[in-house]
Amino acid sequence: MSIMPVLTDKEIKKKYTKIFPQDPDRYYPTKYLKSMGFVRGQCSKCARYFWNQDKNRKVCGDVSCVGKFSFLEKPLAKNHFSYLDIWKTFSKHFKKVGNYTPIKRYPVVARWRSDLHFVEASIDDFIPYVVNGVVKPPANPLTVPQFCLRFNDIGNVGITGSHYTGFVMIGQHRFEKPQDYDTNAYMKHLSSYFFDVLGLDPKELTYHEDVWAGSQNFGPSVELFAGGIELCNQVYMQYHYLGGNPEFEDLKLKVVDMGLGQERVAWFSNNAPISYESTYASVLEKLKRETGVKMDANIMKKFYPLAGRLNLDETDDINKEWAGIAEEVSMNVDALKNAILPLQALYSIADHTRSLLFALSDGALPSNSGGGYNLRAIYRRAYDFNRKYKWNLDFGQIVKWHADALKSQYPELQDHLDDVQKVLAVEAEKYEKTLENIARIIKSIKGKIKTEKMIELYDSHGVTPQSLKDAGVDVNVPDDFYSLIAERHRKSDEKEERYLLNVSDIKKTERLYYADYKKDSFTGKVVKIIDDYVILDKTIFYPTSGGQLHDIGYLNDEHVIDTIVQDGVILHKVEHANKFKVGDAVKGKIDKERRIKLAKHHTSVHIINGAARSVLGAHVWQGGSEKTPQKARLDISHYEALSNEQMRAIEKKANEIIKKAIRVEKFVLQKSEAEKKYGFILYQGGAIPGSELRVIKIADFDIEACGGTHLDNTKESELIKLTKSTKIQDGLVRLELKAGEAAKKYTQELTDEANHVSKLLGCSYKEMSALSDELFLVWKRVRKGKSGKYTRGKYVEAKPKTYEQMLAVEEALEDAADVLRTQKIKTHRTVERFLADLEAKGALK
Ligand SMILES: [Zn+2]
Ligand SMILES: [Zn+2]
Repeated sequence: MSIMPVLTDKEIKKKYTKIFPQDPDRYYPTKYLKSMGFVRGQCSKCARYFWNQDKNRKVCGDVSCVGKFSFLEKPLAKNHFSYLDIWKTFSKHFKKVGNYTPIKRYPVVARWRSDLHFVEASIDDFIPYVVNGVVKPPANPLTVPQFCLRFNDIGNVGITGSHYTGFVMIGQHRFEKPQDYDTNAYMKHLSSYFFDVLGLDPKELTYHEDVWAGSQNFGPSVELFAGGIELCNQVYMQYHYLGGNPEFEDLKLKVVDMGLGQERVAWFSNNAPISYESTYASVLEKLKRETGVKMDANIMKKFYPLAGRLNLDETDDINKEWAGIAEEVSMNVDALKNAILPLQALYSIADHTRSLLFALSDGALPSNSGGGYNLRAIYRRAYDFNRKYKWNLDFGQIVKWHADALKSQYPELQDHLDDVQKVLAVEAEKYEKTLENIARIIKSIKGKIKTEKMIELYDSHGVTPQSLKDAGVDVNVPDDFYSLIAERHRKSDEKEERYLLNVSDIKKTERLYYADYKKDSFTGKVVKIIDDYVILDKTIFYPTSGGQLHDIGYLNDEHVIDTIVQDGVILHKVEHANKFKVGDAVKGKIDKERRIKLAKHHTSVHIINGAARSVLGAHVWQGGSEKTPQKARLDISHYEALSNEQMRAIEKKANEIIKKAIRVEKFVLQKSEAEKKYGFILYQGGAIPGSELRVIKIADFDIEACGGTHLDNTKESELIKLTKSTKIQDGLVRLELKAGEAAKKYTQELTDEANHVSKLLGCSYKEMSALSDELFLVWKRVRKGKSGKYTRGKYVEAKPKTYEQMLAVEEALEDAADVLRTQKIKTHRTVERFLADLEAKGALK
């Protein structure tokens, strides 16, 4: 049962924004602030409480209260660091002052979360299982340079200097017992970075008292401001809201969540005219050389301190803002736009290609749905800029520039560059196809296109506003078009599991099938009966889950027709539940043959997953799967339909793994340990709750977290046949396969068909294709009234033994089917028809 929260997170924040400042010494690190000579003030403009060394100061440090980004006019940091220096100096400083361990970034694709597509903040790495204490943190305390993606402000990217789709949030994180929690120390670690490393004069810094709330957790937070910008925010996540009496409780694990924008602090430190210039320094240099775009230093210096006003979230009339700024910098609006907009395009291309580089490297693909939707949106926005200015930039090359520039901080970006470039090239083709179709699409549109229609056109056909404009359609493009479409696709659409039956008072069932997948009988005790379902203390019945179909069998003499699981409780559906009562000892037996067929198909799905990744590239992830006794299917992420050659290569690779007879290792690890050892590639089947993972490891070929029943050795799969592949949606390919007996039966059918065809044609399987061709030619001639004769040769039966021999026969049949333009399993029918036609005309020998 879900309980409606008493207050939303927003309301909690609002409420405690009034409460915490009433007792600042209790909630904020005032001991540290006072020791540094800071005094408390209240902003005369926004009423917020702040700390500063100047006791006469009247306003807080926010740009809307101080009026401008003063650090752009007067450098405030004594030491000027490059973009990459920020993480280097930060991690070193925190190691020194508080023994924080620097860890590697998490993938930007949030595989361990079921509620998010992409990581949006460094704390997302640790939500929910580290923060709620179920899983140990990878280190404690720690710092992390986390690459994040956010698509809510796409329209502001490239213009304001503070908006990005992809950025690095440097995190300072701790997970502490309440008695060890010391906010004064954590604030000292952070502040000393600015004072001692960046060389910021403490009198330039302002601390703001604030409150943070999320997922019903909340706590005080402190924002650090200097020169008009927020440098970072330190959150003390300490309480869980209950809404009753007491109103909240202490979290068992108190968390420090400090996020510092690497882009922003680099900008602040090195006084670039706009943050993009310091973030993408070397890449922009190359982009400017390629495009000939120049910056007018004078205009930039005057314009960029005011550019924050062009934030589309905060203005209703963007043209009025442009006019106001133009007046202030004494320029004509058009001249100002002509100087600034090409730069916006260049900065946006730099931002979007970098975001794509990270997302694609980490295995995401642009598509029409889910997380891929926004990747396609930024790809097309960047592409449109490139087209609009006729720059002819090669995005494949730009991602390489980015990877090279970031090598010291993110060496892993080198690993999948080829793959990323391939995906970008395919994405270009797809967009170009859309552009070719645009004339046809817009023909059906009458009159002026409103924003709603533009969004619909983008969603249904991938048509961007810029491409409509280029095609001569009268459109008024809202500047925040991309923000409008992006916001609709931020959250994962995954649905929460709904339980049919209430099992909340029952202990989780002990699962006996993990120890030995071939064990087929056991004795258990009835703990509860709900409707037709019998619940035991332990069982060997596998419930339908993870795409694997359930076991059937018997409990005593009663037929088990279905097995399901709810919240860890396994339920056996029987025809007469009244034959059981609580406390009974029950003998159970499963249908062993079915179990083994299921295990063969499940392990084969893992083998095919590994094979697909090794043949197609590291972007291949499992999208979904289904295993039945007769066949299995596996959906993989891939950017185009598979060719026959690719199918064959995957199948061959899979059968090599069978031949190698590799042990299938099955073991349980603590989640943090498993992640550290094998990486997030474990989460092929999606996010998994709990503190432990069951790992299924086939050498280094395929390693997945999985709860299914698996073979002990790959050789038990015997044979794997890929029977079909279909592109089921953009970026997703469905593979159908058979394993073991089912695969052998399938191969036998193909061999029988090949022999049937050979017999009809009078040949061996090797001649099948050539003779099919001949038959077809003769048939065409005779049909046109010309003379011709088909002569049957000697039939030789194919008797393939090994996989390679079977494959040779299958390929011969496939070729013949291709020649006759039919499906391989129906080839004999076409041959029979042609032969009958020739016979009737006396053209058969
Ligand atoms: Zn203020
Ligand atoms: Zn599995």
